[in-house]
Amino acid sequence: MFSKILIANRGEIACRVIESARALGVRTVAVYSDADAGAKHVQLADESVHIGASAPAESYLRGDVIIQAALVTGARAIHPGYGFLSENPDFVEAVETAGLTFIGPSAQAIRAMGLKDAAKKLMEEAGVPVVPGYHGQNQDPEHLSGAADTIGYPVLIKAVAGGGGKGMRKVTRPEDFAAALESAKGEARTAFGNEAVLIEKYVEKPRHIEVQVFGDGTEAVHLFERDCSLQRRHQKVIEEAPAPGMTQEMRAAMGEAAVRAARAIGYKGAGTIEFIVDGSDGLRSDRFWFMEMNTRLQVEHPVTEAITGIDLVEWQLRVAAGEPLPLAQDQITLSGHAFESRLYAEDVPKGFLPATGTLTHLEFPAGVRIDSGVRAGDTISPFYDPMIAKVITDGPTRAIALARMTRALEQSEVAGSVTNLAFLGALTRHAGFAAGDVDTGLIERDLDALTRSVPPAPRLVAQAALAAAGLAGPMTGFTLWAPLARSVTLKHADEEISAVIRSSGPDNARIVVDGREVDARRDDAGWRLDGARAVPMARTGSEITLFDGPGSVFTVIDPLDRAAEGAAAGNLIEAPMPGLVKAVFVAAGDSVEAGQKLAVLEAMKMEHTLTAARDGVVAEVLAAAGSQVEAGAALVRLEDEED
Ligand code: ADP
Ligand code: ADP
Ligand code: MG
Repeated sequence: MFSKILIANRGEIACRVIESARALGVRTVAVYSDADAGAKHVQLADESVHIGASAPAESYLRGDVIIQAALVTGARAIHPGYGFLSENPDFVEAVETAGLTFIGPSAQAIRAMGLKDAAKKLMEEAGVPVVPGYHGQNQDPEHLSGAADTIGYPVLIKAVAGGGGKGMRKVTRPEDFAAALESAKGEARTAFGNEAVLIEKYVEKPRHIEVQVFGDGTEAVHLFERDCSLQRRHQKVIEEAPAPGMTQEMRAAMGEAAVRAARAIGYKGAGTIEFIVDGSDGLRSDRFWFMEMNTRLQVEHPVTEAITGIDLVEWQLRVAAGEPLPLAQDQITLSGHAFESRLYAEDVPKGFLPATGTLTHLEFPAGVRIDSGVRAGDTISPFYDPMIAKVITDGPTRAIALARMTRALEQSEVAGSVTNLAFLGALTRHAGFAAGDVDTGLIERDLDALTRSVPPAPRLVAQAALAAAGLAGPMTGFTLWAPLARSVTLKHADEEISAVIRSSGPDNARIVVDGREVDARRDDAGWRLDGARAVPMARTGSEITLFDGPGSVFTVIDPLDRAAEGAAAGNLIEAPMPGLVKAVFVAAGDSVEAGQKLAVLEAMKMEHTLTAARDGVVAEVLAAAGSQVEAGAALVRLEDEED
């Protein structure tokens, strides 16, 4: 076993790897960017090395600097985590040239699976079922549209170099093919610098079921399947293992195909074979097809660990150190069921916009696995994936594991950023999901119901009003302040709420919220509102978060601040989220029309076009393409409107 390894990553996966390494007695070296100087992974590691500025291109993607850090600290091997350099074959070669071990597959195996067209061809040759379609060299639009006709609509256009759901377009009608091809190519060109595409049959009632494989370079085994059908824009939201409705026959067929795929490329380490499954008629062993292989540890690996009892990072280290596979296929067993929810800092009602913020409060229930790279007080910065934590629950049956997930999400407390907690909670209560009736269109179909925001109960508004008036603390009482009635203005989900608090004794009050009265009484344990105990709460500045289920955020509005607002409204085009300015299409002096594209902002896996709200003339451009901006940063200013 290695005496010391370096982890070329950050956040939760860096922390996760450090923990397994430590359990094996392996010392760890963390690397960090400017933004991560005080990060949790740096604190956890035995040593750490600063590798550059905050932007990934200047730190976590600098293979040369990372290899140097390993050599200087005496680390013998590099674990890449996922994302960043994990699927970069040139990096693997550079690591090996430096005399170090890459904890993962060979450069050759990564290359074989790197492009979707070549991978499909290879898998076809190895006898693995692949999605019917065209994955040849001819990129002529006429030829591709002919191929689509032959395959039969609906079809899916996919960038061969694709990843993260980018460069993908579903086309239902032949007349839409040409435009969809153009836009898929455009996205592929910007995102991957490679505009080649392939055409696939769009599978009906698609389910994403993937198989965890593990190889030692010669032998390979599988560790059963994960169902990742709960997706939003082709990105996973909640994953589970095993797949609901899986039969012994189907599992055997998929496991065998996955192992064949891994053996075909002499795979070493942890990998995932992703299959698309036609779920329109239950799970049938002739209705699954290879989509792609991810040649790394996967974000959702904890659900596999939960049902097999195997530590996949431990296996990665042991196999990389030259040990054979720790278990043979028939020694790997499946028991129980597990779920993973990806908890993100994102604004769900605003179209799942990535968010940033300092997590003033962060607490999770006991007895649940939480993989997280942040602690209370840490900041979700605009530079990286806005993941806060992965919440993982398991149980002897699917229903129990799911009920535990619902409860775990309800008991998770996050303040300081908007999150997708309420959305995740709604998903776990979705009737179809609970019944195991999943497909990749589930979220989209029921999006309105899943993202509907529920107005806070009057007792919660009343509690927030008490807190806003400075009366929530244990030692304060009505006797401490003079007026017997006080009005408070709060903001919740962009709506203003007024509340009037009337004291009727030192420990009694009536709070009027929207014409409804809430009775408040205080005893030694704190306030009761309409008889119910006050819920846990956190306050930072003017922001009050009440942890009732997913958490309700109230902002206390100071009447004096009101006037300043709205003055510049209409003139400024601001970044709706933190991100990278990809392009700016206008210059000072340009005349623009309402709706005209002004700039493109990219934030984690999403591009956002900013348009002019009205006709006007550009007064100044305040951000250049390539610059990183915070949410609310002014990008373009229009000249004042003439009256
Ligand atoms: P998966 O199928 O494992 O969910 P995706 O295809 O969604 O993976 O994304 C590719 C991988 O890159 C994921 O593991 C994702 O979390 C990771 N990733 C993408 N961007 C970043 C980043 N900025 N920092 C860390 N990891 C990232
Ligand atoms: P990426 O590299 O972006 O992860 P994938 O090829 O893995 O691309 O596809 C991402 C997602 O798109 C899948 O998880 C699935 O939901 C959907 N998808 C891919 N191929 C098909 C298909 N042929 N039919 C229906 N849905 C598909
Ligand atoms: Mg994929």
